[in-house]
Amino acid sequence: MPSSATETRVTPPHLTPDAALFLDLDGTLLELADRPAAVAADDALRGRLVTLTHALGGAVAVVSGRAINDLDRILRPLVLPAAGQHGIEWRDATRHRRQHPTPTLPAETLAELDLFVAAHPGTLLESKGASFAVHFRGRPDAARAVATILADAARDAGPGWEVLQGKMMTELRPAGVHKGDGIRRLLADPPFAGRRPVFVGDDWTDEDGFVAVNALQGISVAVAVERETQARYRLDGVAAVHDWLDRSAAALSPTRERG
Ligand SMILES: [Mg+2]
Repeated sequence: MPSSATETRVTPPHLTPDAALFLDLDGTLLELADRPAAVAADDALRGRLVTLTHALGGAVAVVSGRAINDLDRILRPLVLPAAGQHGIEWRDATRHRRQHPTPTLPAETLAELDLFVAAHPGTLLESKGASFAVHFRGRPDAARAVATILADAARDAGPGWEVLQGKMMTELRPAGVHKGDGIRRLLADPPFAGRRPVFVGDDWTDEDGFVAVNALQGISVAVAVERETQARYRLDGVAAVHDWLDRSAAALSPTRERG
């Protein structure tokens, strides 16, 4: 089925009991923050995720550009199945954690990034383990300089590295692995296997996830997206995502609502 921006202005249907739910975090479940480390989930969000996890037989996962350790910090004490660093690492429902083999960033390249951030107050270097993000939400005028330094770093680091543009951040990361891979990895094992994948995300990097679930006859949902997108459905923002999840949970567990 072809998709275009005009066809995605449709609210997604409620989740069905056979869904495997994959959720981006920042800009999807949580409003974007100036400092990525300042983000934390509240009780309402944790409760929502627990309710959906029960309603979908455990098939709820977070798929994020953040490292899994960081996701755990934000959602604590919840420990959900997850794909982190845009699919480089993933953790299944048995808490078994795996990672794609990735190259190591040369120390001198990392040192250059440190120097750049020190010279540009308001920018922030986030080291995720296998990938490295420079955030510039606190320094929007540095966007071009950030893009340049990371392009240089990718070239210096050698083959196998790529630069990824996010919202107010640019990331240097091992090439060729994306959120769609993370979703497919999680779908290979119970309780996700055999279910219909649903992916909700807001960022450019989520397009790979939309393509992956579309190919599996799943449901792709873009959040607050004005660009051309591969997603077939659309929600207006974080509050609309919460509302849709709550309505879905009520439809999935009517007795829970009454009781
Ligand atoms: Mg996002």
